[in-house]
Amino acid sequence: MKLGFIGTGNMGNPMAANLIRAGHQLTVHDLRREAATNLLEMGAEWADSPKDAVPGNEVVFTSLPVPRDVEVVVLGEGGILEGAGEGCIYVDLSTNSPTVVRRLHEIAGARGISVLDAPVSGGVYGAAAGTLAVMVGGDEQVFSRVKPALDAIGSHVVYCGDIGNGSVCKICNNLLSMGIGVLLSEALTLGVKAGVDLAVLADVIANSSGSARRLTEKFPRFLFQGNFEPGFATALAAKDVRLATDLGRELGIPMELANLVDQRHVEAMHRGWGSEDSDAVARIQEEKASVQLRLDGV
Ligand code: NAD
Repeated sequence: MKLGFIGTGNMGNPMAANLIRAGHQLTVHDLRREAATNLLEMGAEWADSPKDAVPGNEVVFTSLPVPRDVEVVVLGEGGILEGAGEGCIYVDLSTNSPTVVRRLHEIAGARGISVLDAPVSGGVYGAAAGTLAVMVGGDEQVFSRVKPALDAIGSHVVYCGDIGNGSVCKICNNLLSMGIGVLLSEALTLGVKAGVDLAVLADVIANSSGSARRLTEKFPRFLFQGNFEPGFATALAAKDVRLATDLGRELGIPMELANLVDQRHVEAMHRGWGSEDSDAVARIQEEKASVQLRLDGV
């Protein structure tokens, strides 16, 4: 397929690379041309604006930081809608607000442009390996047309129902991942302070009912190594938790614990850790407990 791809950062770049490897022809755009250097070397074409990434392409993807970036790239001057004609399909792979996605769907739909939300989970490692979970909302027939491309970036591509439902699934998942991260940092500092070796504690929990992928996959690559190079930036994690608490407010759902998790991320942002990996949030608990959660040789 001929595809446009806008936003070739930590996630977008490996996803775009896998699309090229799968035989798709890509036109790419990012605010930073250097973020696409490897993709251009692999045969992608460069577009100077989101609008220029559209013509001749069956599907246009975005993978952008926050909802406002997506709105600018789709609706703004030189944006996707300026380049898109009737029959074009636009797919947002970002973790976005379902409310924003549904509004874009309405605006684009009035011009004959189809929109799917297709946020992904699995981190930069999953993006590189092509093993992401992809959660798709929108028209099911449009989904069927795009699925061959989505299969190149994910190993678990799921149709979630109407437009915005992919984003709802993703927000619920990330609220859990971030909440588990905060609770894990409390449990692990407690266990270490009480005298158990971190490697033993992590191994026991990993094989018991308290296990979570945050413990078995994320912490070993980041927190336990003292590696805070993103990965998944704290600013994006904070955005995702806020998307969940905002949605809760929109729907009148009480979410006491989610708001505590939100405030922990606000504190991490206030400390200036927005561009560090989201495992940096655990450093707040490390500081409170005077315990460092580091392992040699993980
Ligand atoms: P990133 O900041 O590494 O990449 C975003 C890219 O978008 C950057 O290269 C940036 O230059 C570009 N960009 C921003 N505004 C732009 C604009 N107006 N026009 C063109 N390009 C623009 O972020 P990321 O980690 O790749 O995350 C992208 C999305 O995927 C986010 O919504 C994030 O929440 C989600 N996500 C991230 C991860 C992860 O582990 N990093 C995992 C799952 C989902």
